Amino acid sequence: MEMTTKPRNFTSRVVLKEHFTARVFLITLKLLQPKTITFTPGQFINVDIGNGLRRQYSIASSSHKRDEVDLLIDIAPGGPGSIYFSNLEHDDTVSFTAPMGKFGFASQTGTIVFIAAGTGIAPFKSMIDFTAEEQARRKDYDKRNVYVYLCFRHEKDIFLEDYFEHLSEEQPNVHATIVLSQPGPTWTGRSGHVQENMDDRLFSDTSAHFYVCGGTPMVRGVVNYLRTNSVPEGHIHFEPF
Ligand SMILES: Cc1cc2nc3c(=O)[nH]c(=O)nc-3n(C[C@H](O)[C@H](O)[C@H](O)COP(=O)(O)OP(=O)(O)OC[C@H]3O[C@@H](n4cnc5c(N)ncnc54)[C@H](O)[C@@H]3O)c2cc1C
Repeated sequence: MEMTTKPRNFTSRVVLKEHFTARVFLITLKLLQPKTITFTPGQFINVDIGNGLRRQYSIASSSHKRDEVDLLIDIAPGGPGSIYFSNLEHDDTVSFTAPMGKFGFASQTGTIVFIAAGTGIAPFKSMIDFTAEEQARRKDYDKRNVYVYLCFRHEKDIFLEDYFEHLSEEQPNVHATIVLSQPGPTWTGRSGHVQENMDDRLFSDTSAHFYVCGGTPMVRGVVNYLRTNSVPEGHIHFEPF
């Protein structure tokens, strides 16, 4: 999909900071100047975190919402970006440049497979919300099958479980699976490497496009797995953090 919007400098204000887990939270930035943004679901913002440093964060909200952007922040890396976002409070000002990047839907038809680790779900949430809104708004909008594989390490790291449960109830074409790499003894769900929990039939679905996002080692592992399973190169799209 062609990206035509040039990046601009924005100032914004924190209007929501909601903890999902001990290390992951949702931040909502209300745009002050300019007051609205145009972007494509999957793109990111480049945040000025002070001292001449910048960090990138995928927009987690739909592009239909133009006066605010949601971010999903994981502070586990512990560097300057994590410290900056940990210290942010309600009403603080945040400066950023956006929209950035070319990640997003590569095809307007066919099966969609999202594979994410932790906050790697952020660009996909934007793409999913956008698609769900289009489907609700336009009766003719293709009800594409959407498979989401979301992995975390432990039970305590899980977030957006309710969001996906609700979405799957409302939209039977959305199939979400949570995978834990290191579950506790009472976990009865999927476990192990996220890629090994994927439905094999997806690899022979010639309409399927696979989107992968998360830390670099996870992205590399999943992309290699897709290649090993003969997914065409043009159907594999990834954004490493
Ligand atoms: C295009 C893009 C989009 C991004 N979107 C998000 C987002 O939506 N939410 C988010 O929390 N972070 C996102 N990141 C990561 C973010 O930009 C910072 O790298 C992160 O906040 C760590 O910054 P830091 O200064 O705390 O640590 P640093 O000292 O700069 O980085 C420490 C190390 O952690 C790695 N890392 C960063 N994030 C992760 C992660 N989630 N999982 C595993 N390893 C990681 C980095 O590659 C780096 O090697 C994105 C990165 C890119 C390139």
